[in-house]
Amino acid sequence: MRYLILSDIHANRQALEAVLEQAAGRYDEVACLGDIVGYGADPVFAAEWVRANAKWIVRGNHDKASAGLEDLEWFNPAARASALWTQDQLSLDEIDWIRHLPRGPLPLDGFDLMHGSPLDEDEYLVGVREVVEVSPYLERPLSFFGHTHLQGGFLLHRNGVIRLAPPGPEETEATLEIQPDTWYLLNPGSVGQPRDGDPRAAYAVFDAGQRTVTYRRTPYDVLEAQRRIRAAGLPDLLADRLAAGR
Ligand code: ZN
Repeated sequence: MRYLILSDIHANRQALEAVLEQAAGRYDEVACLGDIVGYGADPVFAAEWVRANAKWIVRGNHDKASAGLEDLEWFNPAARASALWTQDQLSLDEIDWIRHLPRGPLPLDGFDLMHGSPLDEDEYLVGVREVVEVSPYLERPLSFFGHTHLQGGFLLHRNGVIRLAPPGPEETEATLEIQPDTWYLLNPGSVGQPRDGDPRAAYAVFDAGQRTVTYRRTPYDVLEAQRRIRAAGLPDLLADRLAAGR
């Protein structure tokens, strides 16, 4: 079984469509790590696509915020404005669907799905120190997480924790072979708002039979995604950052 692992789509239709076009034929099922909506201009498209196509989904903090499950006081002004705008766009039925999405970790076929960390869906696993702290709470050797919008993740073994690099700017993909005596916390990167300095949409494919994870990047129509964010009256910052991938 080959799983298309998508995270942090953030209502970016152009990025999601580019990912699906590039990934076509390379996967059997779709798993989604949350933050389907928020920031981008196409929350209805993103929510309906995930609802129809992803077999396993965990919710993210922006999904909670857009469904009224989160106190927006903790959000920065741009995130708060986009959560309120998103709430307005979604139908009651879509909001109800989001409200009932499970929080991670969600076990699946020998691996776990989570948005932030195994303890807290809102926690950012950015550095080695945070990974060491949460490692006792991992239940399986292979977990996928999102939230940081940084493609790569971490490999944990006896000698310590190693950070995994995403494909370089000249590369489209990088493949990782899953070893039996090692634990993994892997981040497919963000489809709709990458923050690792590479503006291309990010995702991963896990081949459970071959025991490989392939990180992939695809260019998409950033200008159109930006145009739609501005036309919706969302904060300029949300459009600007897509070009930089930061
Ligand atoms: Zn996110």
